[in-house]
Amino acid sequence: MSYKAYNKEGLGFTTRQLHAGYNPEEHYRSKAVPIYQTAVFELGDYERCVRLFEYAEEGHSYVRFSNPTNQVLEERLASLEGGAAAVTFGSGMGAISSTLLNLAHQGDEIIAVQTLYGGSTKLFNNTFKDYGIQTRYVEDENDIEAYRELITDKTKAIYLECIGNPSINIIDVEAVTSLAHEYGIPVVMDNTFATPYLFQAFDYGVDIVCYSATKYLSGHGVVIAGIAVEKGGFDWLNGRFPEFEEFYKENVAQIGEEVLKREMFTKRLRMRYLTDLGAHMSPQTAFYVLQGLETLSLRMDRHVENAGKIAKFLEEHPAVKAVSYPGLESSPYYELSKKYFPKGPGAMMAIRVNGGQEAALRVLEQVEIFDYMVNVGDAKSLIVHPASSTHFGHSEEELISAGVYPDTLRLSIGIEDAKDLIADLDQALNAALEGNKR
Ligand SMILES: *Cc1c(COP(=O)(O)O)cnc(C)c1O
Repeated sequence: MSYKAYNKEGLGFTTRQLHAGYNPEEHYRSKAVPIYQTAVFELGDYERCVRLFEYAEEGHSYVRFSNPTNQVLEERLASLEGGAAAVTFGSGMGAISSTLLNLAHQGDEIIAVQTLYGGSTKLFNNTFKDYGIQTRYVEDENDIEAYRELITDKTKAIYLECIGNPSINIIDVEAVTSLAHEYGIPVVMDNTFATPYLFQAFDYGVDIVCYSATKYLSGHGVVIAGIAVEKGGFDWLNGRFPEFEEFYKENVAQIGEEVLKREMFTKRLRMRYLTDLGAHMSPQTAFYVLQGLETLSLRMDRHVENAGKIAKFLEEHPAVKAVSYPGLESSPYYELSKKYFPKGPGAMMAIRVNGGQEAALRVLEQVEIFDYMVNVGDAKSLIVHPASSTHFGHSEEELISAGVYPDTLRLSIGIEDAKDLIADLDQALNAALEGNKR
């Protein structure tokens, strides 16, 4: 037996999504990744205990910080992403909040775009604000000089989403990352809507990627999960991050200069924030995410194919006022989409329906295959009215800047037969049209 696929160089994405990071020889040759359903690991002897707690030796002690099942998922995702290391969290928000807390402290600032996942906007505007971390928003996310104007000595991160929510906009990522790096600022991206299959964020200069693994990475919609991945090699000792300098001094002797410089962000994320805030993913959940990940590339190809067909159909429908999908030639993001998403810009789209909120709600009532749910990125097709759900409680100003109108519906296109999805939307939109006439 000479099985090597778990860490062989040069393998393609689909091969790695099945094999990377798991060597059966280290697990009684179990072909499935075992679920280490334990809270604690034996320490062995005193010397080993000290080495583990100093992080001088890789290993597991207490499952609030690490578990072998999670480790496989972390290594697999780091491989798919082309990154140095990853950390698993109990939810996407766990990954996003801990990632940013690792970077910004009281008195610090984050620069973010406005077209964000509703939960992230609330985190920034409420909780982070209460803790003295200020978020400064760029008004036009494709005006690169607008980012520059917001940068100060206190800026610790620029925060983007690969595909904006729910206006489905695309940012010129390369332009933003090169500006950020001029100032020694890392760029953090929520890549949930694209996944590493559709968008290789690190190739365009992004430094840290966060996921809600609840969505496409799993695809089956049975777990809440999050992951943060570090590209590796960002210069944390550039003067902007005194906390990282301190962390480096404290740990370089035990962990070693090479590893620490390569993975300083995720090391500190695990040792400080996973340990102190305790938002680790359970090993059961890691197992479920791994099951989903095995088919990621196949599902994403189908998601994109269906989305392209449906966007074209919706664009022609008389009940539809506007379709936001960057794969349409009519989209203002079409050129950026071709550059950054050669395999297709995902399967999220937003439409505005003729006849206002009433007509939009009628579509929701009439759909028979699309599920009325706030989730996204499921293998099944989903539809939601953002103003009354995902963006509920946002001010009118926040809604407009996020591209949420009373007549906006957001669709997450699944992998069902495209003709069934089109027929379902057609009958629901026709019902809305009928309603408008009455
Ligand atoms: C769902 C989602 C999140 C939050 O993830 P949870 O797993 O629900 O905590 C963050 N960002 C995006 C883009 C999402 O779709």
